[in-house]
Amino acid sequence: MRVIFIGPPGAGKGTQAQFICDKLHIPKISTGDMLRAEIEAGSKIGQAVHDLIAKGQLVDDKTVIELIKQRINSKDCDKGFLFDGFPRTVKQAEALEEARVKIDCVISLEVPDQTIIDRLSGRRIHLASGRVYHLQYNPPKIPKQDDFTGEPLVQREDDKEDVIRNRLKTFHQETEPLKEWYQARLGKSKGYFAVEGSGDIKEVQKKIETIIKIASPWGIGGGH
Ligand code: ADP
Ligand code: ADP
Repeated sequence: MRVIFIGPPGAGKGTQAQFICDKLHIPKISTGDMLRAEIEAGSKIGQAVHDLIAKGQLVDDKTVIELIKQRINSKDCDKGFLFDGFPRTVKQAEALEEARVKIDCVISLEVPDQTIIDRLSGRRIHLASGRVYHLQYNPPKIPKQDDFTGEPLVQREDDKEDVIRNRLKTFHQETEPLKEWYQARLGKSKGYFAVEGSGDIKEVQKKIETIIKIASPWGIGGGH
């Protein structure tokens, strides 16, 4: 099962990806997490992308396509994967097609811009795992600590109001055209699904699970 989540920053892609990946036993592949790991490590890529990410602009297609190509060659991707935040441009989607990476299901999480600021200003993350929390809507068991490791949670430097506005603009300009692109290829409600993402976390999760059941050849919890 190969799944893509498309959605504006703060739509809930990372949150919902965690549930689906646990159920389907597939890895969550987030280019955002991978790029932040490069920045943390101080690598050449990390140094090159830091300022772009801090400003809310996209990293160049070539860099992310290369990261993804290496990542999906790993053994843990044999049974599938979930892309969270990739592809983000039509060029990136075309690169997948050229590499003959077949996608079973694309889910577009639809959330209005007004909701985004509220969600992102309260977001806290566990850097090493990419686990996502919210001060109000999804708080950790112990304040400021990751539920699984007890390590500190951090606020992303691009989760500030002016940067969030840039990221939203970038989403509408560069990423939103992908919705039409995938709908034309996979078919509406066949392989391409739009999901209203402004309900609470559990409500959205139920909707996504229903879609995965329709789109998966094995159904949830399966996969041989
Ligand atoms: P969010 O979860 O808020 O949507 P991500 O963690 O996915 O954000 O991405 C953070 C930043 O990393 C983006 O604003 C962008 O600068 C960069 N980035 C992540 N994925 C991609 C991608 N596929 N193409 C280009 N840039 C990306
Ligand atoms: P994305 O990966 O699309 O950027 P996240 O999954 O990181 O989005 O969610 C952004 C923030 O909003 C996080 O703090 C998360 O806990 C919170 N959140 C996610 N889904 C919901 C929801 N349905 N209702 C309220 N808050 C949510």
